[in-house]
Parts: sequence; C-alpha cells; structure tokens
Amino acid sequence: MIIGGANVQDGRTFEADVCIVGSGAAGLTLALDLARRGASVILVESGGMVFQKQSNDLLDIELGGQSTPALIAGTRERFFGGTTNHWGGVCRTFDDFEFEPHPWVPNSGWPFGLDALDPYYTAAAALLGLPEVRRTYDPEALGVADRPALVRPTERDLQAAIWRRVPLERVRMGPWRKDEVSSNPKIQCVVHTTIAQIHPGPSGEKITSMEGRTFSGRTLHFRARDYVLCTGAVENARLLLASDAVVPHGLGNEHDLVGRYFMDHPANVLGQLLLTDPDAPASQEEHLAENELVGWTTTPAARRAHKLQGFMSWVFPRRPPEKLPYELAIRELVQPLGQRQKPSSSRYLNIVINWEQSPNPLSRVTLSPKLDALGIRKPHLHWAVTAEDLASAKKSCELFSVAVARAGLGRVHLEEVAGPVITMGGGHQMGTTRMSIAPKDGVTDVNGRVHSLDNLFVGGSSLFPTGGWQHPTFSIVALALRQADFLSSRHR
Ligand SMILES: Cc1cc2nc3c(=O)[nH]c(=O)nc-3n(C[C@H](O)[C@H](O)[C@H](O)COP(=O)(O)OP(=O)(O)OC[C@H]3O[C@@H](n4cnc5c(N)ncnc54)[C@H](O)[C@@H]3O)c2cc1C
Repeated sequence: MIIGGANVQDGRTFEADVCIVGSGAAGLTLALDLARRGASVILVESGGMVFQKQSNDLLDIELGGQSTPALIAGTRERFFGGTTNHWGGVCRTFDDFEFEPHPWVPNSGWPFGLDALDPYYTAAAALLGLPEVRRTYDPEALGVADRPALVRPTERDLQAAIWRRVPLERVRMGPWRKDEVSSNPKIQCVVHTTIAQIHPGPSGEKITSMEGRTFSGRTLHFRARDYVLCTGAVENARLLLASDAVVPHGLGNEHDLVGRYFMDHPANVLGQLLLTDPDAPASQEEHLAENELVGWTTTPAARRAHKLQGFMSWVFPRRPPEKLPYELAIRELVQPLGQRQKPSSSRYLNIVINWEQSPNPLSRVTLSPKLDALGIRKPHLHWAVTAEDLASAKKSCELFSVAVARAGLGRVHLEEVAGPVITMGGGHQMGTTRMSIAPKDGVTDVNGRVHSLDNLFVGGSSLFPTGGWQHPTFSIVALALRQADFLSSRHR
C-alpha cells in the first residue's frame, strides 16, 4: 500500500516489525525482501512518486573543504526510487583485494571478506537481471581476440575489466518496483513524509519511535522493533547527528565518528587518446555487447608495488574530436541504451577516470545551524582530498598511459590531475557510518547496526569502510539482501 503522508490525520502512528527510511536502491531492496520473508514493513519516503522541486530542495547542503557544487550537484534524488532515478546501472562486484586492509592506505579494509557477501552478490545479480555475478575479460570468449587491444592482456600494471549494465526495464528502481510495493499487504509505504527525528528511550540504548514531517504541517509517528536508515551517505549521517535530544552530539556518535570518512570516486578527464591510425579496425573493446562495458584498472600487484589506491578508466566511444565536457560525458553514460550515439571515427578519444579516496576522518559531514523548510538542520560537507590520494591518481594515470603506448595503438595526452579539475564528484558518496568490529573504529557493526543502539540499523554505501574503485550500487543491493537475511532471522 502507498499512502500520501500529506493527507494522513495529524499525529497518526504507524506500526510494523521494521521501519525503513528512504526508498532508493538500499531501502526498496530491503523492504521488499523483508516482506517476502514475512516481516511487516513501513517504508517512509521524503519525496513523492515523481520528482518535485520542493522535496528535492531538502537536499540543500553547505559546502566546505575541497567541496564544490560540481561534486554534489545532481548526485542525489529525493523521490520514490531515490538516486536510481538517474543512475547509470553499471554494476561490478568488489574483488577480494578491496576487502583487505592495505598497509599503505590508513584506515583501509572491511570487517569481513568477500565470502561474507558473495552469496548476496549472486542474489543481487538475479534480482537486477544480470546474467552472472562476475564476467572475466576474456577476448577469446568474447569473440574479439583478432582485434587490437588498447591495453595488452599481458600488460603487467593494468588489466581490462568488464562491467555489466542493469537491463533497461530495471534501471529505474522506482518505476520497476512500484507495483510490487503498492500491492504487497506487508508493506505500508508512506510518501511525502520526511523523517526529522529519531527518538531513543530514556536510557538512550533503544529507539522507540521516529518522527516524520510533511509540507502540509502534519507530524506522523512510526514505531517498530527495528529501524533502518537508507537515506544515502550524507543524509544518514545528518539524521543521526540531528537526533541529539536525548544523546548529546547525536545517535551513535559516542566516538565522534558519525559523518567522518566521507569518500567519493572523484572523476576526471584523464586526457585524450590519440589513435595511431584512426581508420584502423576498431579495438576489441568497441566490439562488446551493449549491456557490457570495458575499462581498465590497476592490478593488485601494481597497487602493492606503487602503494596505490583503486583506479578505473574508460575510453568514450569514437566521437567528434572536441574534448567532451564532464557533464556531457555523464549524460552519455546514463542515457537509455537505445539512445546512445553510434560511434563515429575520430583520432582523439576522451578518457575518463574515477579514483579511490583514502578513508580520511577529516573528510566529513556535520550539521549547519541553518534549517531546511521542515525545520531540520542542513548538512555541511567538508570534503577533503589528501596529497596521497592525488599522488596515487596521478601515478595510476601514468601507468595507464604507458600501458597504452606499449600496446602501440595510440598515445595518451595526459591532463594534470590537480587543482579544481579533481573536484568532480563521481556520484558515489560513501563512508559516513562505516562498519567496524570495535565501536572505537566505526559507527556500525558487521550487520549495519549502530554499535551503541540495540535496534537502529543503517543501509547503503555509508557503511563502506573503504570505497574501492568499483561502482557502489551492486554492493549496496547485496548488503541490503544480507541485512534482510539478518533482520528476519532476528525477528524469528
Ligand atoms: C549521475 C549518477 C550516475 C550513477 N551511476 C551509477 C552506476 O552506474 N553504478 C552504480 O553502482 N552507482 C551509480 N550511481 C550511484 C547510485 O545512484 C547510488 O549508489 C545509489 O542510488 C544509492 O542508493 P541508496 O539507496 O543508498 O540512496 P538513494 O538512492 O539516494 O536513496 C535515498 C532515499 O532516501 C530518501 N530520503 C532521504 N532523506 C530522507 C528522510 N529524512 N526521510 C525520508 N526519506 C528520505 C530519498 O528521497 C531517497 O529516495 C550514480 C549516481 C549518479 C549521481
């Protein structure tokens, strides 16, 4: 059932086994899987069923540090389906290397290994309509072995990798899953209702209710055995920090860690690839199927040897020779598959990169004294990039350029990875409620439960203690399925 909060009687209380806040990739996956397993669920969504400026304006954020509007603009959506209303649908698992702590990257590593998530990656692939969890880049199997390769398979520092795209009919998770939500008797989905406060009991160890506000002036209450915040990395931290009426400095913030370790995958134009022969047969990567993408990443051996963080690079299809502005490049990526432009021959191709930031406690979300239209304190983002982050990105670019030159297909004209060009967000916000074994090292435990609260959980990429280089949403969905498993067994 989908209920418009604006017209509900003021003061009404909703009750269920689990209350989930936010209907994006994490919240929708969790709600529907919990309902499938027999739990009753309240799903509270701030926006309505379609984009509305009034709801989206609640995302307004103060920027500090190296944050720029380009880092954050257009990276979040406030309506049913959340940011999957404009994501690119590009999926890849984390590899086991990304779960390990890397001695050259402070604060890196996950509290569990790939084996803990692998069964849920399988379930996530089935859910999202991906034919398999991992596809190895194998030119023979792909039938493109006779084509020239931009980076040779024997290259020692770089390797080709394959990403899968979610099929068109499942990319926009709101429209895809709306009917399942509205027809499910186990789910009460309350839209146009923004959670403003999380109320703990007097001991501060258990949540007793959440308070929602509407633009029509109603205050609604939500009671459940367990509560899960799935509002994105900035808003999850904001809600915990803003709920400070009983516990000073906010919920789960005993060690001053809520909001810290904010990470993204900053995006840059690495430079232009100058093809040796623009009329030569296209390289093997251009022959892959529409729902697959190929890119390049540094090998674990190269990362150990050069002390590097993660890195991925993509060459945009053959296009006119002008430099492709970043915004246009992103639009190209997120376009529905059928509308993507046919490649045209050109001597210059743009190369775009995303790189991993180290988990840095000084990169953080705090609260501004300013209030939004519903009286909730706005978030302030101090995004910090370290000199080591930049040096790692720069070295990775060099390794990529050398690998391309060695393959003999072309040469890369490198742009400088420094200054304002780095502050383009990848739209992959992570890390603000990181998981850890010990409460002093993170906000949440291995199940996403806030360490200091018995029944408050967090979902989404704010749980990631290390960002890796892979796109986050496939892992967000896998984590949500894992959390559904855990929460339903807890109720049983
Ligand atoms: C341009 C772009 C392209 C992208 N492409 C890819 C890609 O190809 N592959 C990939 O893996 N990732 C991609 N991403 C990232 C992806 O969109 C996110 O990782 C994913 O949507 C996060 O899911 P989530 O459920 O955690 O948060 P969201 O999807 O942001 O959902 C959060 C939900 O919470 C609601 N909410 C917020 N605050 C409140 C509140 N107080 N009360 C009630 N509800 C609230 C919001 O309205 C929203 O519905 C892309 C992002 C951008 C910006």
